[in-house]
Amino acid sequence: MSIDLLRELSEVIGVSSQEDAVREIVLRHIQDYVEDIRIDPLGSVLAVKRGTGAVDLRVMAAAHMDEVGMMIMGADADGALRFKAVGGLDARILPGTRVLVGPDQVPGIIQWVPVHLNKSRDTVAIDRLRIDIGATSRDGALKAVKPGQLATFDSTLVELGPTVRGKAFDDRAGCANLIRLVQGDPFPFDLHVAFTVQEEVGLRGAYVAARRFDPDVAVVLETTACHDLPVDDTEPDQTTITRMGAGPAITVRDRTTISDPRLVRFLVQTADAHDIPHQFRSPQFAGGTDAGAIHTSGAGVPAVTVSTPCRYLHAPHAIMHLADWDNHERLLRAAFESLTPAVLNRP
Ligand SMILES: [Zn+2]
Repeated sequence: MSIDLLRELSEVIGVSSQEDAVREIVLRHIQDYVEDIRIDPLGSVLAVKRGTGAVDLRVMAAAHMDEVGMMIMGADADGALRFKAVGGLDARILPGTRVLVGPDQVPGIIQWVPVHLNKSRDTVAIDRLRIDIGATSRDGALKAVKPGQLATFDSTLVELGPTVRGKAFDDRAGCANLIRLVQGDPFPFDLHVAFTVQEEVGLRGAYVAARRFDPDVAVVLETTACHDLPVDDTEPDQTTITRMGAGPAITVRDRTTISDPRLVRFLVQTADAHDIPHQFRSPQFAGGTDAGAIHTSGAGVPAVTVSTPCRYLHAPHAIMHLADWDNHERLLRAAFESLTPAVLNRP
């Protein structure tokens, strides 16, 4: 069952630079369906799914294995752990969340001023937050956890009927769909798949993966923010971005990329032809994906990102609609079945 694959991939811990446990799952699920598996020097998994040879096109499909988290910087005299964010974290959602720290997955909680004392309603600053692992001294804390070790949210996947809740759907939901595509029938061309590392800290794995593959065209499988609940209208910018349940979201532009208009048009035509619900991620300068690195690699690569909308990304409990996730995979499958060099013709 595909939800078991999503569960396995999302519950495992793989903060940027330590994607080992994710990589092991990816390898196990793709090894019987691909050739030329290599783990590149940075740790990304690169492989080729052989096609029928009917279409002469080097196509790259990428999803990132890493998730956001925290790096331990040291311990205070009372045993509380100082940390810095790895990837984009909003300090305001951290207090009270459970985390797992270091290779031994030491359980901790992110502490904040108790409500009884916090009369001033201070702004939450990440530098003032600490991880409490129950230690009572610096020495005690540093026996269990070392500076430089990584932590992330302690959270499991929960099925909620049409939706699921869990951590790290960004981008394990994308990884799972890339695995599902790899396990399916061959496409007309060889599909060059990259499960990349270190996207959350600057698209680093994708830079070198794209150079290795030197593709003609690239598609990035992602999740993207969904902000479709009633909001505080005193905030100046309340862009919805995407709506949950409205289908996979095609990126037109984000902070790092303007998607290739020919690929955007092709994806919309493909979705229409197959009756697959879809939406545009509202164009804005926020956010970025591996496409930002891939489209400027080599002599340039036409690229586009297609995402499953998720509420509460980069938080302990994201919520995703399973129909969106399935349609994300359907849209990309249909696109790969009909993609030809003619799509890239210029008028
Ligand atoms: Zn992502």
